[in-house]
Amino acid sequence: MCAACTGVTPCSLDRDDYPAVITGPTQKESLCFAQTNNPLRASGLILAGKVKHIESMIGPEDPPPYTIINAQGQAKILLVGDHVSNVIPGALENLGLKDAMLEQHIAYDIGTRKLINHLSQHLDATAVLAGYSRLVVDLNRSLEDNSVMPEISDNIVIPGNQNISEEHRKQRIQSFYTPYRKAIDMALQRFRENNVVPAFIAIHSFTPQMTGFSRPWHVGILWDKDPRIPLPLMQRLRAHPDGFNIGDNEPYSGKHPADYTIDHHAEAAGIPHVSIEIRQDLVNTENGAERWASILHDALRDVLADPGLYRVWQSL
Ligand SMILES: [Zn+2]
Repeated sequence: MCAACTGVTPCSLDRDDYPAVITGPTQKESLCFAQTNNPLRASGLILAGKVKHIESMIGPEDPPPYTIINAQGQAKILLVGDHVSNVIPGALENLGLKDAMLEQHIAYDIGTRKLINHLSQHLDATAVLAGYSRLVVDLNRSLEDNSVMPEISDNIVIPGNQNISEEHRKQRIQSFYTPYRKAIDMALQRFRENNVVPAFIAIHSFTPQMTGFSRPWHVGILWDKDPRIPLPLMQRLRAHPDGFNIGDNEPYSGKHPADYTIDHHAEAAGIPHVSIEIRQDLVNTENGAERWASILHDALRDVLADPGLYRVWQSL
């Protein structure tokens, strides 16, 4: 029986007194959606009709579904890391994969946790970090996307993702996906309450080799309609004395619907945004992550210093 069902009011955050680090619900009772006063239901994030008790997949030894770091950050910036984690919840038994496979890029964006940690400090920006691997549920996909629980990733069959039942799918969504979406919404709501239109920056990393092709870019800047951050950011990165190869919508395109976090939370709201992809061999060490956090900070600083940036985008 969950706390909500027993009438215990779920804890809510005091927005005037944010702790430095906020984590998502880890205990089974906090994920019951049967109660109408569950904040996740009230937010509309739980789809209509899904009102029965669904047990969370998050066990007592598992981490929370998200962590918000530097929650008191003063910058008008929100950083997000959809793919920072390679953790599989105990209940899913590694999805049938060997441990070594979970160290590879199919499980997470190598180096991005360190990179975001440093960048969050440099910019004094709040960051929302995912708690689980993209193989459990890909947080940068819409729920309609077939690759949201990928059966195959970079030619590797994911045994635990074959023929997932509808019930199991709902359980994953409500344990990992919905709390993460809610965490980003919660962070954005905090800006709204202060009448601030923040800049939204998603950080990813890409594998240097893909299907036999060596990717030449150091960094990729992904964007679609709103050029306010991407164009000046690319200009500054290209002017760096080390002569970096900067991909304009490479190795992935921001125009592709798979870039769900940006599309859903930022583009749809007209918030200035960019998705930054760093090549993994550049950030897979502490030194590399620190160096690239500094490089990105230097390039972003001027772009983000423009007070005119913090407005809702009015497209033509
Ligand atoms: Zn990614």
